[in-house]
Amino acid sequence: MDILKELEEFRRKDIPYSRVLGSMCTVPHPIAIKAHKMFIETNLGDPGIFRGTRELEEKLVKLLGEILHHPNAKGYVCSGGTEANIQAIRSFRNLRRSDKPNIVVPKSAHFSFDKIGDLLCVEVRKAELDEEYRVDPASVESLIDDRTVGIVGIAGTTELGQVDPIEELSKIAIEYGIDLHVDAAFGGLVIPFMDKITKFDFELEGVSSITVDPHKMGMATIPAGGILFRDERYLKALEVMTPYLTSRSQWTLTGTRPGTGVASAYAVLRYLGFEGMGKIVKRCLRMTEIVKEEMEALGFEPVIEPIMNIVCFKTEHAEKIKEELMKRDWIISTISNPKAIRLVIMPHVTEEVISNFISEIKDVLKIIDVRPQ
Ligand SMILES: *Cc1c(COP(=O)(O)O)cnc(C)c1O
Repeated sequence: MDILKELEEFRRKDIPYSRVLGSMCTVPHPIAIKAHKMFIETNLGDPGIFRGTRELEEKLVKLLGEILHHPNAKGYVCSGGTEANIQAIRSFRNLRRSDKPNIVVPKSAHFSFDKIGDLLCVEVRKAELDEEYRVDPASVESLIDDRTVGIVGIAGTTELGQVDPIEELSKIAIEYGIDLHVDAAFGGLVIPFMDKITKFDFELEGVSSITVDPHKMGMATIPAGGILFRDERYLKALEVMTPYLTSRSQWTLTGTRPGTGVASAYAVLRYLGFEGMGKIVKRCLRMTEIVKEEMEALGFEPVIEPIMNIVCFKTEHAEKIKEELMKRDWIISTISNPKAIRLVIMPHVTEEVISNFISEIKDVLKIIDVRPQ
């Protein structure tokens, strides 16, 4: 039992989610934890053994496809948004076989695209943003040439939660005959449940693939990411033969991979349904509004009016505020352009968490003796 005590000690050093306003992950839903435990020994890398788990993965892909306006989407559950983005671009690149391939992504793209450039030997061209931090379609267009294998739009940027004009990017993709990947790692399970819905998914003809992460707003256990393609052709472009396994081939990036994320993500979506997910998303949006008002009362100004449950506040002292909060075991994050502190209002952020946070930040402002701006 000493070992478990030792583990407990390490675990105690972790900061509980009730003091975290800087992560896109959250406490898994109770039903996700139950489902995770039931599938703890599963390995989807060998689907001939885990036949039921494989079947469940197909059902989850269909469910995610339904949410994203394409029940026949083809894909799988992966380790997260990073892997999903890698696989989308890898598929685009393999389908085109251009030498010296490039992709065009918004300047606001997640850092996984820097890994992609390095791994896949694809040049990553970064398009300018407008004053609301959405990608400028004219800039995207100007960066496309005959070596471009795909363009990327983001539905829920990591830093600001902004949504790119996917409808316009879709038109560009069709016009140039190239693929469009939508990185909706965060927004894919937020936007569909909002009152004001912007088109961002397979409903738009030019969209070839979508990243959507159940381990963020889907309240699944980690790891649970998702990559969905419009048709099987994109998966085929990723296929390698697997001689000694129960399956003939595989198109995943990882070999051995857990079925826990599949089970937990499926359980949450089935348990909550569209309506239940909507309630949770709307509560997060309401909490975001409360945080915004409280912070404004302290003199902070948001970088943009929050679109989803992410809000950033301009301040020259972003790093200092983050550091001081960290000393008190509170976690927030910062962005550098513009200098701001960033808060992600996940399902674990209740009114109580907010009021604790606000009184803490008031103290911090007093101690470092600065005005917010
Ligand atoms: C979180 C995020 C990712 C990366 O996802 P991981 O699960 O951390 O690999 C990619 N893109 C966007 C827009 C994200 O918000």
